[in-house]
Amino acid sequence: MPPDEYPAHSCPVCEGHTWQPLHRKNGFRYFRCTSCRLEITWPLPTEAQIADYYKSQTEKASYAVRVNYPREDSVHRKIAEWVISLNGGKAPQTILDVGCLDGRLLDIFKEKGATTYGIEIQSDAAAIAGKKHDGRISNGTIEQFAEKNEGQRFDVVTAIGVIEHVPDPVSFLKTIRRLISSDGLLVLQTPNTSSSLHSIMGSHWPPYVPIEHIYLFSARNLAMLLDKCGFEMTECKNHWKWLQIEFFYLMTELFMPFAYKLLRPIVPRLPEAVKTMSVPLYSGEMLATANPVSGYKRTLDSKGKYWLYT
Ligand SMILES: [Zn+2]
Repeated sequence: MPPDEYPAHSCPVCEGHTWQPLHRKNGFRYFRCTSCRLEITWPLPTEAQIADYYKSQTEKASYAVRVNYPREDSVHRKIAEWVISLNGGKAPQTILDVGCLDGRLLDIFKEKGATTYGIEIQSDAAAIAGKKHDGRISNGTIEQFAEKNEGQRFDVVTAIGVIEHVPDPVSFLKTIRRLISSDGLLVLQTPNTSSSLHSIMGSHWPPYVPIEHIYLFSARNLAMLLDKCGFEMTECKNHWKWLQIEFFYLMTELFMPFAYKLLRPIVPRLPEAVKTMSVPLYSGEMLATANPVSGYKRTLDSKGKYWLYT
């Protein structure tokens, strides 16, 4: 492979420069950092490509399926119950959901008494969430939100299926670090390249979606990135998603066409009570929590650099 086709920049997690080519997909190629095993899409999608992609996804495809299927909230309900259990059984006073889509995770926290805030890059979804959350939803990026809300702090920050989408995950986490209370809790959900499904499915693993999924993490390199950005990972577990059967079927059309073909003669004919039953599904994703760390802390690289987090 010609050297100019390799990623031109260093690894955002470990700052290594050596990349191993993986497979091609839709005009892009995935590479793996030979040092920390972070996987990246190359070339990185441009801002215009990302904007066009999300616009098309909102009009049809996966975001439209989610927004048009508001009765599916079991996956978010399970996450909310887990976060509340980590918070001593009570809802946090304030929660910021980054990439909140139509506000369905925030709906559950609001119901439990939290003051809810959200950030969403897709304007149509942000407008729907804004109506339900008294205008406390910002349409834009987390960096734009932090600039407008300097000094504001949140008890819990959630980013469910978001960090794999952002072009600069270091800036993303460092900005969250500025927005989280000193004893706050960060909850991340993202595909896990150290999962057994990733090993079994190889290039057919559903999270390989160029433009949408730019960086793919393992449990280890996610912990390294959190460390670099002022957090300490406290827990990381496989994420079993509880999804309604009909919703899962609609998503397979986009992410697993082979499964959609198998299910198409069956699911539409099922009785309504069966279609809306929730079942636990695993597609190789992880749920991680982290706490902010204050003061000076040594990075994991060998250069002996010190970073100030406070
Ligand atoms: Zn690396």
